[in-house]
Amino acid sequence: MSGIAPTLDILARLIAFDTTSRNSNLALIEWVEAFLAARGIASHRVVNADGSKANLYAFIGPRSAGGVVLSGHTDVVPVDDQPWSSDPWTLTERDGKLYGRGTADMKSFLAVSLAHVDAALAAPLKAPLILAFSYDEEIGCLGAPSMIAELAALDARPSAVIVGEPTSMKVVSAHKGVRSFIVEVTGREAHSSLPDTGVSAIMEAMKLMQLVLDMGAEARAASSHAHFSPPGPTMTIGRVEGGTAANILARRCMFVWDLRAPDAAEADAIEARFRQAAAQLDAEIKARAPEGGVTITRRSSTPGLSFAPDSAAESLARALTGDNETRAVAYAAEAGLFQRAGIPAIICGPGSIEQAHQPDEWIERTQLEQGAAFMRRLIERLSA
Ligand SMILES: [Zn+2]
Repeated sequence: MSGIAPTLDILARLIAFDTTSRNSNLALIEWVEAFLAARGIASHRVVNADGSKANLYAFIGPRSAGGVVLSGHTDVVPVDDQPWSSDPWTLTERDGKLYGRGTADMKSFLAVSLAHVDAALAAPLKAPLILAFSYDEEIGCLGAPSMIAELAALDARPSAVIVGEPTSMKVVSAHKGVRSFIVEVTGREAHSSLPDTGVSAIMEAMKLMQLVLDMGAEARAASSHAHFSPPGPTMTIGRVEGGTAANILARRCMFVWDLRAPDAAEADAIEARFRQAAAQLDAEIKARAPEGGVTITRRSSTPGLSFAPDSAAESLARALTGDNETRAVAYAAEAGLFQRAGIPAIICGPGSIEQAHQPDEWIERTQLEQGAAFMRRLIERLSA
């Protein structure tokens, strides 16, 4: 029997829960609670405002400071409109690859962690292994902050965090921060033959969208952070909505843009420039249509993970993997939130980000084996 048989069993159970971010994750959380309770481990929920979703954390071993957090999100991205060859909610093996939504991002890390709970319980752990499973990561890391605040305030404060996003079990030391904004422009409707009698919200919004494009081009030319690819801040417009007909000046136009930057100060400067331009446009529109204007709502803001080569998390991950290369990623993760709360974090998990969010998402069996070896070494180290 393969050494990863328990991991595969657990992974199949986790994949079967449709934890697309728009759904409740409570069925999965209850399953994990029961799994841990059967082993005498108490877990703690940190729920959202309406009680429909929960983070869960649990200590394995002594409830003391200096533990290592295994951090993963329970939610997955939608499968809507994606061509899947097999049921995304049924773990399916073909040619050494395991298919299913969340196999790479990131239920395999959760499964590998849970599959080693028995080994951790049997080991003479000197410091705890702490499971920390979140919700709503995929829609802007909205769930984890409340759990991270609790963990950071404990007497038994952890000393390092492994965030198991898919890195093919390589050590990733930094990630970009991401902010997204909803911009609403309101104008005044008029017949398109008399444009001076109204304000087209679409045509005004285009000025701000052009600024996003211009700042993106400038950042591409000016900013360079070694190890990041792309090397500087990026800006994209993900949604636009507005208008009703060709011969009506639009009263309303809404767009959503996102800003990803290696460096918070750079992101601050870009955001400030956008807000200043929006405030100026707001005044111009109000001068022509007092009921009009521009509003900006910050939809999400996830801090980046900054390089901290001497941190407890980095030295731990390097010792466990033997990987000494320096890497940074352009996607955001929960690692920056832990770092901001004063708990050093690193990203290292099974599977590849290249398969994440794709139809026919998969992970190789060998990745689960590497994940299992990582967990065994971690348990040994916490027992030394
Ligand atoms: Zn993920």
